[in-house]
Amino acid sequence: MRYSAFKLLTEGLRGHTGWKPVWRDPAPQAKYDYIIVGGGGHGLATAHYLSKVYKKSRIAVLEKGWIGGGNVGRNTTIIRSNYLLDGNEPLYEFSLKLWEGLEQDLNYNAMVSQRGILNLCHSDAQRDAYRRRGNAMRLNGADAELLDQGQVREIAPFLDFENARFPIKGGLLQRRGGTVRHDAVAWGYARSADNHGVDIIQNCEVTGFKIETGAIKGVKTSRGYIGAKKVGVAVAGSSSRVMAMAGLRLPIESHVLQAFVSEGLKPVIPGVITFGAGHFYISQSDKGGLVFGGDIDGYNSYAQRGNLPVVEDVLEGGMALMPMIGRARLLRMWGGLMDMSMDGSPFIDKTPIEGLYFNGGWCYGGFKATPASGYVFAHLLATDTPHKTATALRLDRFRTGAMIDEKGAGAQPNLH
Ligand SMILES: Cc1cc2nc3c(=O)[nH]c(=O)nc-3n(C[C@H](O)[C@H](O)[C@H](O)COP(=O)(O)OP(=O)(O)OC[C@H]3O[C@@H](n4cnc5c(N)ncnc54)[C@H](O)[C@@H]3O)c2cc1C
Repeated sequence: MRYSAFKLLTEGLRGHTGWKPVWRDPAPQAKYDYIIVGGGGHGLATAHYLSKVYKKSRIAVLEKGWIGGGNVGRNTTIIRSNYLLDGNEPLYEFSLKLWEGLEQDLNYNAMVSQRGILNLCHSDAQRDAYRRRGNAMRLNGADAELLDQGQVREIAPFLDFENARFPIKGGLLQRRGGTVRHDAVAWGYARSADNHGVDIIQNCEVTGFKIETGAIKGVKTSRGYIGAKKVGVAVAGSSSRVMAMAGLRLPIESHVLQAFVSEGLKPVIPGVITFGAGHFYISQSDKGGLVFGGDIDGYNSYAQRGNLPVVEDVLEGGMALMPMIGRARLLRMWGGLMDMSMDGSPFIDKTPIEGLYFNGGWCYGGFKATPASGYVFAHLLATDTPHKTATALRLDRFRTGAMIDEKGAGAQPNLH
């Protein structure tokens, strides 16, 4: 069923009796050509591009819970491509271009809103770093503008510009950045993949791999054994646990990241704003809630909820940036499992096990990468060669020394 204004009108006149379920609920088959483990944004996008662009069939997505229950439905919805390093920036810019055509591609309203992202700088050195980053972005075909304090004031007059410790000196603006309704992304990809014949199997946890003579043969699941020629794992915060079942140890730690939403307010924040002197970022949803977040919780955890000291830390960042936030009431908060890699950059690569592929290590930033991550993972699964935008995202980069340390912070997840 195609969605359109005409369809909406006719269904309205028929009392909305003709809408069909958005995806089927199939029982798992005995064997598939491709199994994607993890029905988050990345797994579903992989299935979509594998079937639609690479014309592959006999594909299943296995999800242990429900579609949208992981980070894809828990993030703060920010999309951008404001990265510095060559190993990263082409992938994120590719992603932003895919976001720009996503709703037409999926025939689904994902509320892609390019309302701009503004990274604030608070010192001359930070402004120099942003100038460098902006130039690197432009060299990779992205848009970037360096703003002085006056220009930032025009966009966001409510910020605390004269803060004694962190005066705002200017900012790096990417106008094509913005927000996307996160769970609509999961539903849109799921619907399209299903339309292209992919079996989306919920409540189906992968509990082990069948590996013979160094090659994958299938997966053990809570709904029985399923054979497969190729298996792609995209389980985000569960990466270490799932890959350990294949005997692989990853340079990834799992931490909780929390998100916060205030009561609904009149429009006040025009786009996304990030604080440059602490970890705090904020936007405003279409319903009026201020949506914000900050640091990860400092200890490893697989709980999808966080702790109070980080709440205090995030809100201190908010107060330092825009004191008026102290008048808003917090409506709700939640946590998600972050797959924090040791250089802050992701992996999209083959593993030493033939037919087993891995996608993970997205840290705070995997939502914006969803379309490109799915596309290039599908490319890898279909062709056995890395896509040109993902050649550096290798699992062996810590052994070879070819890290992609975007922030120069080293192996400290809390600093990425
Ligand atoms: C609070 C918060 C805010 C964030 N904000 C942003 C942001 O503004 N911008 C941005 O770019 N990124 C953001 N992120 C990061 C982003 O959400 C993630 O990097 C991204 O969603 C991860 O990919 P995914 O969607 O595939 O993950 P998920 O949706 O978590 O999908 C992984 C799936 O694998 C399933 N799974 C796990 N184990 C198994 C198993 N054994 N068998 C079967 N299935 C399994 C899980 O149930 C889950 O559904 C944020 C994350 C959080 C938590």
